[in-house]
Amino acid sequence: MAAGGNIFNAMLQEFDGAARLLGLDPGIWKILTHPKRQITVSCPIQMDNGQIEVFTGYRVQYNITLGPAKGGIRYHPDVSLDEVTALAAWMTWKCAVAHIPFGGGKGGIICDPTQMSRRELEALTRRYVAEIVDAIGPDKDVPAPDVNTNDQIMAWIMDTYSMHVGYTATAVVTGKPIEMGGSLGRREATGRGVMITTREAAKHLKFDIKGATVAVQGFGNVGSVSADLLTKIGARVIAVTDWKGGVYNKAGLDITKMIDFAKQHKTIDGFPGGEPLENNDLFKLDVDVLVPAALENQITMENAPTIKAKVIAEGANGPTTPDAHKHLHDRGVFVIPDILANAGGVTTSYFEWVQDRHGYFWEEEEVNKRLEAKMMEAFDDVLQTSIRYKTDLRTAAYIVAINRVATVTRMRGMYA
Ligand code: NAD
Repeated sequence: MAAGGNIFNAMLQEFDGAARLLGLDPGIWKILTHPKRQITVSCPIQMDNGQIEVFTGYRVQYNITLGPAKGGIRYHPDVSLDEVTALAAWMTWKCAVAHIPFGGGKGGIICDPTQMSRRELEALTRRYVAEIVDAIGPDKDVPAPDVNTNDQIMAWIMDTYSMHVGYTATAVVTGKPIEMGGSLGRREATGRGVMITTREAAKHLKFDIKGATVAVQGFGNVGSVSADLLTKIGARVIAVTDWKGGVYNKAGLDITKMIDFAKQHKTIDGFPGGEPLENNDLFKLDVDVLVPAALENQITMENAPTIKAKVIAEGANGPTTPDAHKHLHDRGVFVIPDILANAGGVTTSYFEWVQDRHGYFWEEEEVNKRLEAKMMEAFDDVLQTSIRYKTDLRTAAYIVAINRVATVTRMRGMYA
């Protein structure tokens, strides 16, 4: 995913490549390359200093053919309608690859949450929800956390929506606190999906994940859980970096201790279980598996030629630039694309929505068992498609997704 610029065009490029291979009908092609609905709202709120500020918010429902729109809401100064639209499109393809009955959506507010008080953030969240209240709902559009939004913000969204409709509607949003309708296993779900797809890739490439070496970029939610669960199936995580620094230990890092250290210090820099490592050097290491789980555009043509890994599991969204991806694919590196590798998060959000609608909550073991089955199915669908179309896994994931949305679009027919 290109940062800034016209990232919707970047999405279209990926789409076009897959649609051509699929032989997509030109009419359906047109439909699937246009957002269904883009909403722009102004959110005036009174700041703590007594002044009124007006913030711009967006909610885009890119496609709702398969079900309610699904996708996070981000709070960031760089939010734009173009970015939100591209992210909503990516959610459409991710939900379709994961084979869950959701369309794609995304929202955002142009703001700098680091400069706002808790009261200001709550006021902004509630006003934004009030402005889009007719467009969202358990059957319409189900938001979730994204950059700079968390379970507290989801709780405010759920409460504001519920106040408007007059009853408690837990299924309007996912990523909620467990106490108010969140799902067990959601926090670990993205990392768990990364572990499952990596394990399946190793099986396919016929190398043993037990004893395989792993390097992880980023040690937040996705990076730390991926590292932990890969360790638990016998892999050896030998390097981790985050925004501040990194650690290397050829014998394997103690991930449980590293998680405790990161909780205390807000970074893994200075972790005593290994030698210091520069972020840039992570991509030069001789490892079997590389997990970029930090930011977009981290693997570029500058560092891709130094990568020695057999498998790259894209925990982050858009960590690999298109030219670097082509280079890696040409060299035979097995890149598990973001819309597959990190789809465990949205899949468990779907489980959260299902549990809320039933009013019946599953044990964590049940959540994990169902996630395992969904991820295995998605991995196999993408792998078989890549073999059938003789293409890379990213293009194959798009083919699977576009085909699913296109088939239902055709079956539903044109309403006019
Ligand atoms: P997070 O904020 O919990 O963690 C991000 C990590 O990246 C932190 O450890 C941070 O130190 C590190 N980082 C930041 N800048 C870095 C840099 N320049 N070099 C190295 N490390 C750096 O975020 P997260 O929830 O773990 O999300 C990570 C990525 O995964 C994002 O791209 C996100 O969109 C994607 N993702 C997350 C989920 C989810 O469920 N959390 C689901 C799908 C995709």
